[in-house]
Amino acid sequence: MTGTVHTSALRGRAEIDLGALRGNVRALRARLAPGAGLMAVVKSDAYGHGALPCARAALDAGALWLGTATPHEALALRDAGIRAPILCWLWTPGDPWREGIEAGLDMSVSAMWALREVTRAAREAGQTARIQLKADTGLGRNGCQPADWPELVAAARAAEVAGTVRVTGLWSHFACADEPGHPSTAAQLDVFHELVAYAEKAGIEPEVRHIANSPAALTLPESHFDLVRTGIALYGISPSSDLGSSAEFGLRPVMTLTASVALVKRVPEGHGVSYGHRYRTPAETTLGLIPLGYADGVPRHASGKGPVLVGGEVRRVAGRIAMDQFVVDLGTGPDADAVREGAPAVLFGPGDRGEPTAADWAEAADTIAYEIVTRIGPRVPRVYVDGADGQEEGVGGDGRGAGR
Ligand SMILES: *Cc1c(COP(=O)(O)O)cnc(C)c1O
Repeated sequence: MTGTVHTSALRGRAEIDLGALRGNVRALRARLAPGAGLMAVVKSDAYGHGALPCARAALDAGALWLGTATPHEALALRDAGIRAPILCWLWTPGDPWREGIEAGLDMSVSAMWALREVTRAAREAGQTARIQLKADTGLGRNGCQPADWPELVAAARAAEVAGTVRVTGLWSHFACADEPGHPSTAAQLDVFHELVAYAEKAGIEPEVRHIANSPAALTLPESHFDLVRTGIALYGISPSSDLGSSAEFGLRPVMTLTASVALVKRVPEGHGVSYGHRYRTPAETTLGLIPLGYADGVPRHASGKGPVLVGGEVRRVAGRIAMDQFVVDLGTGPDADAVREGAPAVLFGPGDRGEPTAADWAEAADTIAYEIVTRIGPRVPRVYVDGADGQEEGVGGDGRGAGR
């Protein structure tokens, strides 16, 4: 696709500023406790930004590791030629352990079933598997309960002695690191220290110990250990407004979602707008049609509320967001009269040119900004630019991240 799409003619597009992403990696690295490295979390197509270009940009800027949820995401990065260490953590029985071993992935193990599957695959491959043991220090999601840790550690150590696995990491994940001072965070750190000490006493010598996500990377240096796993902060978004704004952390939002106005028309007072007529024009006015909808990831929950910069002003979505399109009321001022078909409508971006941010859309849809960027769908092309010089680098027409 690269170079063949006329980006100015696109219905809608997500501009991905890889220069901003590299700057965010550098800003995060500058905050790390001494000895800690950075894992760039690029799961779910890099939170909708395109896994491959974002992985490459993060590694360029000094990230040492990549992290994905599924093994398939990690294998796709290997297939594309990425040689850096990659940890993938969400395994289901029957998943491709052998392919993971042969691709040199670090594979997370939270339970005995997973250890059994990975050791069997290692014997079949005739190769040692790199595994990282994950502890549930209090999140209550994935990970091994403290009560089950001795059994898992003993079996993993025995597999190491037998040569089927090498335990490269010990790790865990926080539940409430985005809520400053939440007591569970300190409690989880204590449990993590204990479980790491237990495993090391049992003879395990991990290359990396890690527990910090973006909020902990930004605010809790005592949680940095050997590695922090940052996702949302890489993409320039603050994990929570309770912690601070992205600007306060020196982060710049990477994605700008823009559409071209598809239709401008005059309508009389009292005209119903979009499905269910949840908006009625209060007076004769001009409506603008924006050709993006919930199929593109614009949340229907933000109907009547989502902000859009068009014609020099931030307007609210008028009525319901439909599958492919929604409407804004441009009013009758001189700014509105200047809006023509093809004019840019910016749903969100860094926020320093008057446009709303993903955080604003999250508030309008009663969700978190993680969900806003991650859900931008495959029908929206990703256009890679570099804020350093504003040059377009390529287009990922199917949202899978071509370019670079
Ligand atoms: C998604 C994820 C991260 C990254 O979280 P952010 O809050 O986006 O930094 C880190 N670790 C695990 C296990 C994750 O699932």
